[in-house]
Amino acid sequence: MTANIYLDNNATTMTAPEVVEAMQPFWTEYYGNPSSIHAFGGKIGRPIKAAREKVAALLGARPEEIVFTGGGSEGDNLAIKGTVEALAGKKRHIVTTRVEHPAVRVAFQHLEKQGFRLTELAVDREGELDMNALRTALTPDTALLSVMWANNETGVIFPIEEIAHLAKERGIVFHTDAVQAAGKLPIDMSQIPVDMLTISGHKLHAPKGVGALFVRKGTKLVPQIIGGHQEGGKRAGTENVPGIVGLGKAAEMALANIDQENQKVRNLRDRLENGLLERCPGSVINGKNRLPNTLNISFEFIEGESILLMLNDHGIAASSGSACTSGSLEPSHVLRAMGIPFTLAHGSVRFSLSRYNRAADIDKVLEVMPGIAERLREISPFTNQVDGQSWGAPPACQS
Ligand SMILES: *Cc1c(COP(=O)(O)O)cnc(C)c1O
Repeated sequence: MTANIYLDNNATTMTAPEVVEAMQPFWTEYYGNPSSIHAFGGKIGRPIKAAREKVAALLGARPEEIVFTGGGSEGDNLAIKGTVEALAGKKRHIVTTRVEHPAVRVAFQHLEKQGFRLTELAVDREGELDMNALRTALTPDTALLSVMWANNETGVIFPIEEIAHLAKERGIVFHTDAVQAAGKLPIDMSQIPVDMLTISGHKLHAPKGVGALFVRKGTKLVPQIIGGHQEGGKRAGTENVPGIVGLGKAAEMALANIDQENQKVRNLRDRLENGLLERCPGSVINGKNRLPNTLNISFEFIEGESILLMLNDHGIAASSGSACTSGSLEPSHVLRAMGIPFTLAHGSVRFSLSRYNRAADIDKVLEVMPGIAERLREISPFTNQVDGQSWGAPPACQS
């Protein structure tokens, strides 16, 4: 059966029909290169400018502070590598967290291999950062701090305003990966001293392969894709015009309805959360202070991957931890960093909602999930035996 209930919006979202419509003229009609002198190229400047203004508005930024990129991973890489290169190796210490998306984590580990000293900050059982540990980690040698605004696996939100002030007081460049926060939380760069902020189109109902990096005026950044002088010299390459126009439209839609839609999504998410907790006493929520759309829930003694396959048989699409960890036996690095015990971390499922979900979607999950958990628990190798220890009878789900 093909999936028709989509609850995996932190992995990617449907492109909004209005976004597709806004992009339409830029394939076969307005297909000029914006750098060209002739009229074909001349028609493209205005729509790109308008898109830049819309993305800036979503972030409370100025249009000239928006650099269009090829997505979230590129934005993160540009911010991180571009900053340390701009500092020309004068400062050799870099700081991030243990729960970042691979686009940030692997970029930091890459720099560590090149000789930078790396601090990866721990989180507690709720997924929260220890702010004292963060303060202690920041030294006069620290070049760059990167902390995500909200986590993709658990939805846990970090105190970006407070962190930005800590970095600013110490003259440390601060980057935040706001790929999951954009469109779900209010973001106002005119009020918070963040230096750089990444967003990605396909996490907010724009297409894949387009994104933006906010770079505050005055921030030193060495471009990582060099060649032409597009994007103010910060990112070479002919503009992805349809993608940029689509991102602008998606930003405009997200901003217009941010409170209303997030309240609706939150209500549905809470209904799912409370319903599952009620029906499945062995379930535990991972992460406390979360995005309105995200529910990461563990079903003790059973495997997340098996739950996903059975949900898929019912036409329901969800995810276990991070999509990238599927296929490996290791639980996700985020849940491990939170210290979630083995038997719980393996049974984690992430449901992530969007404005396109309906109450009927949630009711369907609540209808099928108790049966799935019960069946899998019966055949679970963990049920009676974990690390040679005997465990009591697992809690049963109630349909
Ligand atoms: C999806 C995601 C990214 C990567 O964005 P892409 O556009 O897929 O490259 C980076 N960070 C977070 C938090 C994400 O969820």
